[in-house]
Amino acid sequence: MRLDKFLCKSTELSRTEARRVIHAGEVVVNGSAVTDEAIQVHENNCITLAGQRLVARPSRYLMMHKPAGTLCSNVDGIYPSLFHRLDIDRAEDLHIVGRLDADTTGLVLLTDDGRWSFNIIRPQQQCEKTYRVALRDPLAEEAAATFARGLLLQGESAPTLPARVESLGSREVLLTITEGRFHQVKRMFAAVGNRVVSLHREQIGAVRLDVPSGQWRHLTTDEVRSF
Ligand code: URA
Repeated sequence: MRLDKFLCKSTELSRTEARRVIHAGEVVVNGSAVTDEAIQVHENNCITLAGQRLVARPSRYLMMHKPAGTLCSNVDGIYPSLFHRLDIDRAEDLHIVGRLDADTTGLVLLTDDGRWSFNIIRPQQQCEKTYRVALRDPLAEEAAATFARGLLLQGESAPTLPARVESLGSREVLLTITEGRFHQVKRMFAAVGNRVVSLHREQIGAVRLDVPSGQWRHLTTDEVRSF
C-alpha cells in the first residue's frame, strides 16, 4: 500500500498529517528517510516515525443492513449517509463494496481493504448477488428465460450476463445476478415490461444478511475468505 495510507493505518494521523510528516523526512523505511508519500510499502518493511516502529492495524470487514432512505455514500445528500449508523472508530476509513440505491434495503459490505473489495466487484469475478424483488405486475412467463439468456438494457450495447429467477409468489421473486450495472435490477424488470416496487439485497457470494435493519456486525474469518 502507499506510504501515506500505511501511516494512517498504523497511527492516529489523518492523510494530510501523514503527508506532512513524510515530507518533513520524519518517516524512515528500511533505514532510509523517505519523502514521497506515494511509494509502495509492505507491512513487512521496517517503517518508523520518530524512531518508533509502526505496525498497521488489521483490516476491517463488516456487513450492514441498509435501511430504506439512506445513501451508500460517505456524505449526506438528499438522504442521510449510511455511515451515521456505524458506531465504530474511524468509520471514515471504510468504503462500501457495491452500492445500493437510496430506496433499496439489505446487505451492504464495508471494508478498509481495497484489494478485497476490488476482488469482489471486478467483473471477472462474477460474484453472485441475490435480491428479493417485489413487482408491480405478476412476472411474465417468459421473463425467467429472457433473464437466463441475457437481455439488452436501454442505452447499452452488451447484453446482461445470465441471471436466475426464483418465484416466491405471483409478484415476488428472488433474482441472482453476477454483475453490478447501474440500477441493474430495476432496469432488467423494466426491460420485460414490469416495475420494481421494492428491492432488498439478501446475499453477496456466500455472505447472507442476518442482522436487523440499521445494524451491523463484523464478518467472520470464513466470510472474509470466501471471496
Ligand atoms: N439494482 C438496482 O436497480 N438497484 C440497486 O440498489 C441494486 C441493484
